[in-house]
Amino acid sequence: MVRTLEKLEYEMNNCFRCSHCKFVPWAVLESHRFSKICPSLARYKFHAYSGSGKIQMALGVHQERIKEWTDEMLKILYTCTNCGACHISCRTNNYLTDLNSIIYALKYSAVLSGAAPLPAHKEYTESIEKRNNPYNEAHENRFDWMPEEVKVNEKADVIYWTGCTSSYRRTEIARATVKVLNKIGVDFMVLGDDETCCGSPIYQTGQYNKAKEIARNVFKKIRKSGAKKILTSCAGCYGMFKTKYPAMLKEFSFEVVNLAEVLDEKIKRGELEFKNELLMKVTYHDPCHLGRGSEFMPEWKGEWKLTDPHIFEPVPERPVRMGLGGCYEAPRNVLKAIPGVELVEMERIKEYAWCCGAGGGAKAAFPDFAIWAAKERIIEAEATGAEILTSHCPFCSTNLKDAIAEVDSNIKFYDIAEIVLMTLTKEGE
Ligand code: SF4
Ligand code: SF4
Repeated sequence: MVRTLEKLEYEMNNCFRCSHCKFVPWAVLESHRFSKICPSLARYKFHAYSGSGKIQMALGVHQERIKEWTDEMLKILYTCTNCGACHISCRTNNYLTDLNSIIYALKYSAVLSGAAPLPAHKEYTESIEKRNNPYNEAHENRFDWMPEEVKVNEKADVIYWTGCTSSYRRTEIARATVKVLNKIGVDFMVLGDDETCCGSPIYQTGQYNKAKEIARNVFKKIRKSGAKKILTSCAGCYGMFKTKYPAMLKEFSFEVVNLAEVLDEKIKRGELEFKNELLMKVTYHDPCHLGRGSEFMPEWKGEWKLTDPHIFEPVPERPVRMGLGGCYEAPRNVLKAIPGVELVEMERIKEYAWCCGAGGGAKAAFPDFAIWAAKERIIEAEATGAEILTSHCPFCSTNLKDAIAEVDSNIKFYDIAEIVLMTLTKEGE
């Protein structure tokens, strides 16, 4: 469960003010143009918007030097997409802070004080509570996208957890996913009326008590289904099931995979070979919650000890989240296995990937900012010479497609599921 600011005092006091959290680490930096790592700071160009700036704000709130949340503070906090990039850059220099936890705790603190969630977040939270999805859509229409010809099992070891965005907004991803599963011979079931929002949009805005309630209900429904494995097509759901649920519910122990991992596994075992050639130059965007956000960190139980005249250190040593445990290779392996596909990489990738700008409640409350961040990614993708931008998340897909339309870019976006479907079927149907 999320730690409160009170429990993060040492982590906050250990910020060196070195500003590594603002940039891609020097060891992997390729150009000045794509050197920035924090979308919020890059857009608003003021220290408070950076990871370190959030630490100063968090300390001020915790020590009650800041008595009231202002609109400016809330804007700073909620144009933070919880992308976690600052945390990874910080860790290359300083293992004593824990930016991820501090930012989540600051959002929690804003919620507990009554200053947050913001009106746009309240609106979708109410929709989730009443209709099980943030889009105010009818719950009973959740699986309307399911193609008639697709075989869905009554019972199976694998649940395909569609997620709200694939169910209502990016249905092309849901359709492609189930068609691919049928074609590669993976038996699956869906939860039907029992599938609800996984709680990610609520969790990411700091409403942890509500998110935990949702997690409990989802857990009961999945357990009742008898399935052993959860397969997602959404990075948000994946991150929740992989890291947040096990932290909130000790008994949650399902295997969690995404479609790219299933395909990669089959390719490695020699059970899947793509035959149809797709002549495409493709670049891949790492969704934050599939990458660095999906690295599980076990709870640390220890204490901070003064080991130097000025420095407190965690004893015993804490596990350190470096972002390396995320899902980076499976989507790339799948793309590389498709005949004719040339994968070209952007400069900021894997644990140092630039966020699309949509997460943390930013797309709902600050849509112009979210689009600005996505446009930056489109410029980076175009610089590779790729004609196709792909990713593995319906939420990234929405924001990146919106940005492509705004800048009238020639680059096309497809989810990996759609590209795989193209190579498995000559007509792409
Ligand atoms: S948060 Fe980390 S990287 Fe940023 S200024 Fe503090 S110590 Fe340096
Ligand atoms: S989590 Fe992402 S958006 Fe938020 S401060 Fe860190 S780098 Fe910036």
